[in-house]
Amino acid sequence: MSKKPARLRAWTFVALLAACHAPTRESSRVITPPLNETGAAPPNAPGRPLPPRPSDLNWPIEIAVRIEAAEGQGRLILENGSRTLTVRRLGEGLEAGGRVHPRLGFEASGPGGEISWNGKRYGGRFEVVPHPQKGLRLMNLVDLETYVEGVVAGELPLWSAQPAELEAQAIAARTYALYTLAMRGALTRVTEPRHASLSDSVADQAYCGLPANALADVESESSRQRMAAAVDTAVQQTRGGVLTREGRLADIRYHASCGGKTSNLEAVFPGTESGAVGTDCPCDEADAQAQKREWKYTFTATQLGALARTLGIGDRIVSLKPVQERPWRWSEVQVAGDSGQIQISFLRLRSLLGPSLLRSGRIEGTWPHPGDSIQSGGGWAVYGAGHGHGAGLCQTGTHLLAKREWSSVRILRHYFAGTVVQTL
Ligand SMILES: [Zn+2]
Repeated sequence: MSKKPARLRAWTFVALLAACHAPTRESSRVITPPLNETGAAPPNAPGRPLPPRPSDLNWPIEIAVRIEAAEGQGRLILENGSRTLTVRRLGEGLEAGGRVHPRLGFEASGPGGEISWNGKRYGGRFEVVPHPQKGLRLMNLVDLETYVEGVVAGELPLWSAQPAELEAQAIAARTYALYTLAMRGALTRVTEPRHASLSDSVADQAYCGLPANALADVESESSRQRMAAAVDTAVQQTRGGVLTREGRLADIRYHASCGGKTSNLEAVFPGTESGAVGTDCPCDEADAQAQKREWKYTFTATQLGALARTLGIGDRIVSLKPVQERPWRWSEVQVAGDSGQIQISFLRLRSLLGPSLLRSGRIEGTWPHPGDSIQSGGGWAVYGAGHGHGAGLCQTGTHLLAKREWSSVRILRHYFAGTVVQTL
């Protein structure tokens, strides 16, 4: 049993980066010119660290992914083909195989082998740690390129995905992961993994583990092989490719469907300064073809009451309206309750009401109209277009552009003007 104080034993572990060597600046090779020379990076916001240059990163890079479905569980059963290990939370540590550990690593039985939990297969290795609140936390530590494969397979419908679409997603996923980890301090200092990991959910990027997990329901073996090979090829073709702006990792986001026009990153995520601007997108045509362009939902008085209490503005919502008049996309919202009002970001409103119900800020109408009184006991009907936050790359638009034979680089330039693709 470890007798170390919790704060000491908690994080001797870490190293998101397996520091093998620091590549020289010459190893950073620009492979595409900037589309828009005027797309200069904005001045860095006070207090925010500058994103790293690709040449600042050590290679190879190992990513720690938090498996959300395991968060807080009291017992985890891990397998590697030749061994099964049951891990339980015990006090401040873990118990496995009759011994107590401050944390526990679990690896594949041999080179190139797999590990699995809950029927899902993963590359790399597992790390089990005590969850800060209760139970256990499971993390998959995996090399960057294997991680990117798991995101491409987790984010896109592989049965219909085009090669350029897969490649664009791979570059976007790699860039998001490195930028996000760098800005969380993971690439610049040793820190606790819970502050330096990526979620395997859409809170960061949907990561499915090995692509085979995303293909488990495909009956045809040849189809499974074809789709897995397409993911592998896209990641290989773009290996080490990231988007940079002014030589530094770009702050990029992506979403399912913008509704016909993407928005400036800063408008959707207040406080960011990326220089990323919105652009036209053909996804409304694609969505119309798929008959899924528009959505609507009516929030009940009960749902609105819960919102009012959470925001501390009473027991019911009296009215909602965007702060900006006639916006393309709601970004700031004035919410009035029966005992107060508050201005919040649309992101927060969507998070509180349910991202799958209030699907996007591309709102085309509400009843009652924005700002009009919602009757006591009445609901709030919303209809709109698109799915997701609407900033950066639109996955539905990317699919359509790839079908029109746009290359992945051209697609990325379209959604991220002023960026270039560099290899690490
Ligand atoms: Zn779109």
